[in-house]
Amino acid sequence: MKVIKDIRAMQEISEFLRRTGKKIGLVPTMGYLHEGHVELLIAAKDECDVVIASIFVNPAQFLPGEDFEKYPRDFMRDYFICMQAGVDYIFNPEAEEVYGKDYKTYVSINDLSDKYEGKFRPGHFTGVATIVLKLFNITKPHRAYFGQKDAQQVVTLRKMVKDLNVDVEIRVCETLREENGLAKSSRNVYLDDKQREDAAVLNEALNLGKNMILKGDFDDYKSVKKAMRDYIETKTPECSLQYIAITDNELMEKIDDLKNYEGEVLISLAVFFGKTRLIDNILFTK
Ligand code: AMP
Repeated sequence: MKVIKDIRAMQEISEFLRRTGKKIGLVPTMGYLHEGHVELLIAAKDECDVVIASIFVNPAQFLPGEDFEKYPRDFMRDYFICMQAGVDYIFNPEAEEVYGKDYKTYVSINDLSDKYEGKFRPGHFTGVATIVLKLFNITKPHRAYFGQKDAQQVVTLRKMVKDLNVDVEIRVCETLREENGLAKSSRNVYLDDKQREDAAVLNEALNLGKNMILKGDFDDYKSVKKAMRDYIETKTPECSLQYIAITDNELMEKIDDLKNYEGEVLISLAVFFGKTRLIDNILFTK
């Protein structure tokens, strides 16, 4: 396994790999890897000849006042996890090289970038889409692997790839969870033991919403949201719910007529436990 920091060197390696007929799989991450990331690496290993894992805490996707500075970082730990997962190249550039002097160009996906997560984290998806497109141009992958954990990220990147005719196949891996249902996340290190236990409520509420919808046990989408909100607020009064969204999985359009809707339903939510903001979602077919 090689660690590449230089953009031009990564491009040359990827170009060579492509010319020699290798299928390249890219797994973009911000490091501090956990089993959820490993699942992506293993999927890439299964389906591609060469796996590139990028480790880059992308300043462009953090808002002022968010946790960019204190985002957990441990390169040596990530290095060994990547090696065990069979990664071929770690791409680990410096921010100064990625966003050089006078950097100007950003990719934003109209509407999608601004709703739900985007509403509470303005600019976040522009930062995500920009870095992902840059990583595609640098590592030239055939396939790129993302987690369903970040549902709006997946929807947004699929749209970017379609709209801009980017020749990369987006692959999505299921959310890996702790035993109590809490979605694994690098940010879970911010939680204390009690919060970690309490945070099981997210997945429970999502399943409650899913079961209500599948059983037809609701009046309209508002009653599903209310039941979920009540469940969360009763079980863990010290947390603070930011939003619950019940949408389709293509453009994240709100499903007004949930009774008669047929297709994929995405329920997503964001909840604060203390200062830690957790997101989660559930995707199913009605
Ligand atoms: P991050 O390092 O948090 O930016 O995540 C890198 C990639 O790993 C993203 O595509 C995430 O959606 C994915 N990911 C993060 N947590 C999980 C999880 N618990 N299960 C599956 N994929 C995940």
